[in-house]
Amino acid sequence: MTWRRRNAAKQTDRAVSLRPWTSRSRKTGRKTMTTIAFIGLGNMGNPMAANLVKAGHTVNGFDLMPENLVVAKEHGVVVMANAVAAVKDADVVITMLPAGKHVLSVHEDIAPKAKKGALFIDSSTIDVESARKAHAIAARHGLLSVDAPVSGGTGGATAGTLTFMAGGSKDAFAKAEPILKPMAGRIVHCGDDGAGQAAKICNNMILGISMIGVAEAFVLAEKLGLSHQALFDVASTSSGQCWSLTTYCPVPGPVPTSPANNGYRPGFAAALMLKDLKLSQEAAQGAGAVTPLGAEAAQLYALFNAQGNAGADFSGIINFLRGAPA
Ligand code: NAD
Repeated sequence: MTWRRRNAAKQTDRAVSLRPWTSRSRKTGRKTMTTIAFIGLGNMGNPMAANLVKAGHTVNGFDLMPENLVVAKEHGVVVMANAVAAVKDADVVITMLPAGKHVLSVHEDIAPKAKKGALFIDSSTIDVESARKAHAIAARHGLLSVDAPVSGGTGGATAGTLTFMAGGSKDAFAKAEPILKPMAGRIVHCGDDGAGQAAKICNNMILGISMIGVAEAFVLAEKLGLSHQALFDVASTSSGQCWSLTTYCPVPGPVPTSPANNGYRPGFAAALMLKDLKLSQEAAQGAGAVTPLGAEAAQLYALFNAQGNAGADFSGIINFLRGAPA
């Protein structure tokens, strides 16, 4: 075979093997030209879809709320009439929905209509059991699937720096990883089906507990006449150091970018923290894990939410603790 023919043959092989997953990505410089269905274009889904468009993908989007579709269109998403229409030609289907019941009902509707060989990625935060059911629906229709919840909030979704925690087979993860990259700062394969959701709720249980711990320490310091800055300077370089203190400090001053400096506007809303703590408690009960501090954190956030703070940042729990009876 001549050099020219060998080269032509090689190029044909590459074109076949890279299709339909690949064009050129601005972020990675690699080829990526995938048709992606994105269902659930809310606070998180819309900026995530925008980053997929920027990376060169065709994104067919659907959401129940017309105003979210208007924003999606501005980002270059092709707006579809319903979820089934969105998945019809898609190689990858991403869902970013409120809870397990939404994910399961959407999966039941779209899986039978999805393209043969399509990959399903669910990035919603949902319970582990529903995540495993969603995998089972995909498998029943011969589709690969990954549960890939995220950490990093709307800021991370906009910046394309989310942490993805993925659960699913090695094959499914290998296909999902390049798709997730334009939206991600970090992607971790945590294990089999449901492992991504398990990692997410364990992480957020640590976060809820640690935020309450840090807030309690500041409330005690105030009563003892110790300044916020003094406690911060000591604890941030001592054994009390943690993310809730050094990145997300619940009092104004020591960390200028924390929501405490911005009237406790989220950030990460208390309603979402309560949702995640409830998921961790359901999982703990189902698995027989003893998590007394997780249970207490869930109760405190339930009370904080019930006092009209669902839309406030979760670090605002410090105000609730100040007002709580001694
Ligand atoms: P959101 O309420 O802003 O968006 C969810 C969207 O899903 C809504 O626009 C809603 O109209 C749409 N939707 C619901 N049912 C639908 C259906 N059947 N078909 C099509 N669209 C449907 O919520 P969000 O803040 O974007 O969060 C999405 C998920 O990400 C949640 O599971 C949440 O827990 C998780 N999460 C959120 C954050 C955050 O900071 N907002 C951070 C990490 C994870």
